[in-house]
Amino acid sequence: MKKQKKVFSLKKAICFLLVLSFMLLPLSAFAGETNAGSGTGTEKNDLQKAAEEELQKELGAFEITAEQRKLAKQNEKGYPPLDAGRGNPNWINTQARYAFARFMEYALGECEATFQQENMAGAAKKEGISARFDAAMDPDSPVDAFLINAVNYCVEKLGMDKDDLLKELADAIIGDYYPEPSRCLVNTEIILNTFLQSVLYGDANLASTTKVFPTEGGTAAIDYIFDSLEHNRLLKPGDGIAIATPIFTPYLQIPSVKSYNLVSVDVSTSMENDWDIEDSELKKLEDPSVKAFFLVNPSNPASHALSDETLDKLKEVVEKNPDLIIITDDVYGTFVDGFRSVYSILPHNTVLVYSFSKLYGVTGWRIGLIAMNEDNIMDELLAKLSEEDKQFLYSEYSIVTENPEEFPFVERVTADSRSIGLYHTSGLSTPSQVFMDFLALTHLIYESEDPYLELANDIVNERYEALMEGLELQADDCENNSHYYTVVDIYALIAAKYGQDFLDWFKENKTEIDFLNDLAGKEGVVFMYGPGFEAPDGTVRISLANLNKEDYKEIARRLYELLDQYYEVFEEETETALPGAA
Ligand SMILES: *Cc1c(COP(=O)(O)O)cnc(C)c1O
Repeated sequence: MKKQKKVFSLKKAICFLLVLSFMLLPLSAFAGETNAGSGTGTEKNDLQKAAEEELQKELGAFEITAEQRKLAKQNEKGYPPLDAGRGNPNWINTQARYAFARFMEYALGECEATFQQENMAGAAKKEGISARFDAAMDPDSPVDAFLINAVNYCVEKLGMDKDDLLKELADAIIGDYYPEPSRCLVNTEIILNTFLQSVLYGDANLASTTKVFPTEGGTAAIDYIFDSLEHNRLLKPGDGIAIATPIFTPYLQIPSVKSYNLVSVDVSTSMENDWDIEDSELKKLEDPSVKAFFLVNPSNPASHALSDETLDKLKEVVEKNPDLIIITDDVYGTFVDGFRSVYSILPHNTVLVYSFSKLYGVTGWRIGLIAMNEDNIMDELLAKLSEEDKQFLYSEYSIVTENPEEFPFVERVTADSRSIGLYHTSGLSTPSQVFMDFLALTHLIYESEDPYLELANDIVNERYEALMEGLELQADDCENNSHYYTVVDIYALIAAKYGQDFLDWFKENKTEIDFLNDLAGKEGVVFMYGPGFEAPDGTVRISLANLNKEDYKEIARRLYELLDQYYEVFEEETETALPGAA
């Protein structure tokens, strides 16, 4: 194995790191490096020290990123700042939002029809609700027409009862009842499953066997999964957890922040291999001491999906390590044509995380989900736990179920999200579930191509083309490239444009942080520090989500303006260094 890390929790850093991880800012693992195997007492003290030193460094890197945003605001040239660091999209989906506003108005009418006095009304009634919906909706209004279409789709294609659906939607958007069932509303689960099937599963047919738990965004989903894996003793101190790197950096912190001495194993991907996982790296997953594999697919920062060949090989890996739990975050899946989730290949072993945040521009809504198959490895492993572990879990869950041993893992995750005891008031807010329904239905009502999804893909592709043209770099046309972000190797770019001697000078005279500070302070451009995601030295992450097409050309121009300036200094220095120069 190439690289193994021993990761330690640092009490005083926990709160701080948790806050940071929710700010979606890049930080490196604060892991101290060591050999494989669980540590002894003295080793731990040394490692603890090393980890704390690392932590200091990494917090420094975080401060530098914040610093760059400040520097860019008051850049020397007085340019409008261009922040290509942020992954938040600068587009939104309007259709689902109009539908939400309109349906809220309609549902309020339903409540007022029950009773109304001043600012008080009753609850929506199921009886006759379909007829009243049909009468209220005007097919000539585009928003009403969407709602009519969406409801028809659910009735005709998904076999739902129209009264039942409208009553669920009306109650849910009004939000006058606790989510019931708490994990996911009944019709919402069907709609979300149909959506996931359409955008993430390729040909695999899993909608009817998948259980969904809507959560407060994808990040909460990840949190809940790791919490429950640990609480249910499916991940224990000393267990190996493999992480596909480079990765969205706050995720590197989770095992260290949340757990006790998990051994983290890098499964690295590289630019040279189209950011796919090489065989030698995949092989690490065959080791039975590796209990879980965590990946973002398509990845962040590298923005590439795993190839079909790698998906096939992953299947072979799981044959050798059949208890492997795979956690895949597919938030960028809709940005790769013909994408197939690891869940669609290995439904038994995989927990899927999806978030609506990026495609639909809904980061502020906090809507994502956890999905897993009704037949899954976690439930199997629970049945195989030691008697002691089983007894512990029996007493833990006996407060919310009469049959704790049979309590499925997906329900445990739901219960754990509210410290078990508050299971009956768990679940995502019901208006948020309605909004997820509407977002999913904006896609599902189209039999073939969804124009919104096409548009979102076209937008990031155009920006990517503009950037690559400006940088005079060959565009990466790999079919697995999502173009949501791109990793640019600044060293390679310098060598190609200015030659090796200048690159050598650059490396000697400028740290990557100096360079990023200059880019921000002199030119008003913010990139993210690649090594902060465990990407190679000299790389930066450029987001294609947050600026307009022209801005990417301008970013390239400013980057070269800075490099030209450096080059002048380099020339002056080399001239004066020449023997006989003035
Ligand atoms: C942006 C992003 C998300 C979205 O998280 P939310 O909590 O849903 O906003 C999830 N995973 C990755 C890797 C991301 O980059």
